Amino acid sequence: MYHIRRHPRTDVTPIDRLLDRLLSNSDVPGPLQTHRMGHGDGDHEHSDAEADILAQFEEQADELHERVVHDHGVFVAEFLGATGSGKTRLIERLIERASDDEEIGVIVGDVAGEDDATRFRELGVSVANVNTGKECHLDPSLVEGALEDLDLDALDTLYIENVGNMVCPADFPLGAQARVLVVSATEGDDVVRKHPLLFQACDGAVINKVDIAEAVNADLDLMESDVSEIAPEMPTFRTSAEHGDGLDELAAYLDERGHVHASDHEAYVSETGHSHTHEHTHTDGRTHEHDHAHEDRRDHAHTHD
Ligand code: MG
Repeated sequence: MYHIRRHPRTDVTPIDRLLDRLLSNSDVPGPLQTHRMGHGDGDHEHSDAEADILAQFEEQADELHERVVHDHGVFVAEFLGATGSGKTRLIERLIERASDDEEIGVIVGDVAGEDDATRFRELGVSVANVNTGKECHLDPSLVEGALEDLDLDALDTLYIENVGNMVCPADFPLGAQARVLVVSATEGDDVVRKHPLLFQACDGAVINKVDIAEAVNADLDLMESDVSEIAPEMPTFRTSAEHGDGLDELAAYLDERGHVHASDHEAYVSETGHSHTHEHTHTDGRTHEHDHAHEDRRDHAHTHD
């Protein structure tokens, strides 16, 4: 048997002390402070200072959206979910089925290592790997940094794989047109009801690994009805990324997200008589989503043809 000896003097390391100091100081900006927002004390009200920081991140996400989606015409889909839910495999499958002339990039968020990035590189797509270290989620700044490794002019589609986590990413939108939350049958069929906030922060849900649901005694109907209870409008897809089940439906949904975006754009243009300009100010990220022009990769693909 192992015996772990905890010497009193080494129990608290200098790093622990530093973290304690930073985390107890509410003036500390940046990840250390914002990180705490995902770890509330059970009540989900944010303090004024927290709300300010969250608003900043939201504004930053809007700017990202503006730049990547509007200025460069890239379709952006973010995948979130626990470690082992199958995010990487799902994105691999979507890449495999894309047409040859679709230029794809992937931003991979992982705490450590190059494992997923290597898998994507082997598929021949452009990859930016982000190791977050102690952070449990990507934020808009990390995505902005990762974009320096990608050629936005060349890309049609950008997949963002967030760090495996079901709590922290809820407060950090990344400007994607589709935020897809992946849970799998192996996480227990109560996984959905245990994570309502993240479901509410996303656009679509995937219940993955349905091929082994029986073996792990997971009730897929229960999982799906939990999703509709928590987020009634949310489209839900049952997939087996390993065997390809449900991929047609998921891919069609992502296509549709791009097209909805494009038709918003057309509606905006015909209503106002002018196309998208960059003069607007980002006073409210939420209304921005509906007010402004949207383009998508398919329009671009068509004009290039
Ligand atoms: Mg992964």
